[in-house]
Amino acid sequence: VRKIADMYTKASNVVDQVVELVKELGGGGLIYVPMDKGAAYVKKVAEALEASGIKVTTYERTKGKILEKYRKGEYEVLVGIASYRSPLARGIDLPERVRYAIFAGVPKIKISLDIEEFRPSRAIILLANLRDFVETQKEADMIDKYIADLRRFSGMLRRDEVERIVESIKAGEKLEGFIGRVQELFIETANFLRELLSRENIRRKIKESPYLSIEGEDKPVIVVPDVVGFLQASGRTSRMYAGGVSKGLAIVIVDSEKAFNGLVRELKWYIEDVKFIELSREKLREVIREVDKDRETIRKLREGRVLPEFKDIVKTALLVVESPSKARTIARFFGKPFKRELNGITVFEISTGDYILSITASMGHIFDLVTREGFHGVRPLNGTFIPVYSTIKRCRACNEQFSDPIEKCPFCGRTLEDKGKVIQALKEIAKEVDMVLIGTDADAEGEKIGWDIAQALAPYTGEIKRIEFHEVTRRALIEALKNPRDINIKLVEAQILRRIEDRWIGFELSGKVQDKFKRRDLSAGRVQTPVLGWIVERTKKSRESLMEHLEITLENNLKITHIIPKTKKRELNKLIEKLKESTCKILNVKREEVEVNPPPPFSTDAMLREASRRLRLGVKETMTLAQDLFEVGLITYHRTDSIRVSGIGMKIAKDYINDKWGEKYAKPRTWGKEGAHECIRPTRPIDAGRLRNLIALGVIRLAKRLTPRHLALYNLIFNRFIASQMAPAKLVKQEAEIQVLEWRVKSEGYTKIIKPGFTLIQPVHLVPEVKPGNVKVKDVKHWRAPTLPLFTEGEVIKIMKDKGIGRPSTYAKILSTLLERRYVILTPRRKLVATKLGKTVYDYLKSSFEKYVSEDTTRKLERMMDEVEQGRIDYMDVIRELHSEIKQIAMAEA
Ligand SMILES: [Zn+2]
Repeated sequence: VRKIADMYTKASNVVDQVVELVKELGGGGLIYVPMDKGAAYVKKVAEALEASGIKVTTYERTKGKILEKYRKGEYEVLVGIASYRSPLARGIDLPERVRYAIFAGVPKIKISLDIEEFRPSRAIILLANLRDFVETQKEADMIDKYIADLRRFSGMLRRDEVERIVESIKAGEKLEGFIGRVQELFIETANFLRELLSRENIRRKIKESPYLSIEGEDKPVIVVPDVVGFLQASGRTSRMYAGGVSKGLAIVIVDSEKAFNGLVRELKWYIEDVKFIELSREKLREVIREVDKDRETIRKLREGRVLPEFKDIVKTALLVVESPSKARTIARFFGKPFKRELNGITVFEISTGDYILSITASMGHIFDLVTREGFHGVRPLNGTFIPVYSTIKRCRACNEQFSDPIEKCPFCGRTLEDKGKVIQALKEIAKEVDMVLIGTDADAEGEKIGWDIAQALAPYTGEIKRIEFHEVTRRALIEALKNPRDINIKLVEAQILRRIEDRWIGFELSGKVQDKFKRRDLSAGRVQTPVLGWIVERTKKSRESLMEHLEITLENNLKITHIIPKTKKRELNKLIEKLKESTCKILNVKREEVEVNPPPPFSTDAMLREASRRLRLGVKETMTLAQDLFEVGLITYHRTDSIRVSGIGMKIAKDYINDKWGEKYAKPRTWGKEGAHECIRPTRPIDAGRLRNLIALGVIRLAKRLTPRHLALYNLIFNRFIASQMAPAKLVKQEAEIQVLEWRVKSEGYTKIIKPGFTLIQPVHLVPEVKPGNVKVKDVKHWRAPTLPLFTEGEVIKIMKDKGIGRPSTYAKILSTLLERRYVILTPRRKLVATKLGKTVYDYLKSSFEKYVSEDTTRKLERMMDEVEQGRIDYMDVIRELHSEIKQIAMAEA
């Protein structure tokens, strides 16, 4: 954990400022000089300190003797370079001695374009930084390719081989084979970079950029901040000890405004809530008091005078999450994790300061209802019901899943893989630790997985707690660790109820359908069937509502659309010819200034709808992509009904908006009542372009590789969220009536942006301004289409949400079931069409079992489940009611 107060100050004379600060703060300091200033500057700073009577030495090579003297106080401060390779930044672990770090200038790297100084790692940094400045997509793509090639090839080379290539370029010597190819790549990249930087507009953009600077005319160098160096160096002041993590202090003396801006911006990736405070005497005293208090504690602990309040401060705990990527993401929050294998399960070990955590993944549900006992897995007993669960088994060959206690696959005879081994591994770890923390996803499914694990581990551990976080970030995890709670049994009961209901209705109703149509691959369901009904209905209506659509472009470029009934081809062509020759009359033009507000941020249904509309992504794929983005820590939990924005969310947006367009464009909005859940939003003020750069640079290392589709969805979520926190836009709205032949056509649209707001990130489509009078027709386009078009997946989900049928966790599942059963198919344009099979099955269910599959029944049941969740009704009562109802289905004729 980083427990460091970050401060900055601007100084005209950096060296004087260093001396003044050291005098104020005393011994136990580390002074870091930016890498670009070099060894001479290290010496200069040390001399200035010495001249003021401070005991100081330079530290440029690892020397135990110097450290020992520093520890004893014979040296008050050490001076060295701020770079992750510098011994002063990496090798020092003296928690009782190091009190503060002073950066004599912002840690930064200068990148030369000289081919003789070519380094692939630096070329990558430069390319990624210049990507924002090129004007065409083609050049952006070229940059991506150079970055990818440089990373790949230099990763295959040893350091001395890179050295040799650079030397041979200097000597003008041509190399052969693989390293010859790499040599070509280096030369090509260097030439490309030089060409880019010779362009006037790019040089201007660099000069205008708040982050980058360029120095020198004939041999230009680009200056970029060194985030890794800063983190490594400042980290020396805050170390782990038996009582937790000690408080540290880092002061940056700003010698370059741009490098400092860049440093703060990139730090946001590493530390979500990084905050630099301007240095003041009072603040400095306050922090150093805390620093010294911790040093005092460390010394007492070292001397064996253990203070009672620190005895149990570091607890060991097992943290169980659902997915391996989530486990890996969390493990990386606190430096490099220790990794071990247990029963084929990966366990990460890390220290958060308050906890030593063993982190592992349950890989989804561990238990499921059996099928062979009781009534489809539920045993009736004296008027109550006991659901019987067993571990989930999987056949690798058939990819089938079973819950009954069997060992061999009933289809192929292979030995099944049993999720019981996860429980075995968890038991082993539980025995070693003080407590178990359940960190599964924050919904009913996650609660049930957690409850199962808690039941299984209860005999092996003293304490089991649930922690809940809606984003996989360090900040959220630390917050959650501070607020552990008990497992919410009501949520668990609601999930059990849902599972039983699914199972019973699935087995019984599906059984009827299967018998009726003599096909084992058919199914029915409470949510599935009404949704199928909508699609069947819409498919029919869509066929009946085919009309001719005419798009008429006027000479003033205004486009208007008019719809007429189905017309024979010859007649239609005649009409179009006539239209093309005609003159229209624009009447009644009205224009007014309107204020338009942005749409709210995404909840699950809106995200699915927009991803389907704009990115042409199916709902199943969107959910998978969103799951990945959540698990690697980029977005908040993606199964949510809420559009609420938390304080942290508002701050993220504000940071981004202020940075990009200025304060006046920010307008924080909460969008909803205080509650546990939140909208889907990014976890950092980093847009998709910047994210791609940081990944290319290796600054961001995610637990999973992102594809262009992941980035496209992230971009959609990011822009929508930022827009929702931006000022309204002032637009001119135009309404006009146009006489076309014998028709009166209405036209509506925005013609002008008077004052931009959210439109900066979500552009609006503008139409031309028109005035009353005659205008000729320029062009006519025609197509035949239904006025009630086929549904997209996104539209169906909107109806589900509006009607209260299905929940964020089931939206995608329902549609994919309908598609798998071939009740519904997707057109090439991703529209949903009900098949003949779908219609037949639906008609049968509607006529025979309407009572069980009607919208009303489904909605009522969903509401009852919500009430179980909120503890308002007893889940056993609902099960009893369902049971008698299902029995009626069982008795009905197929
Ligand atoms: Zn099998």
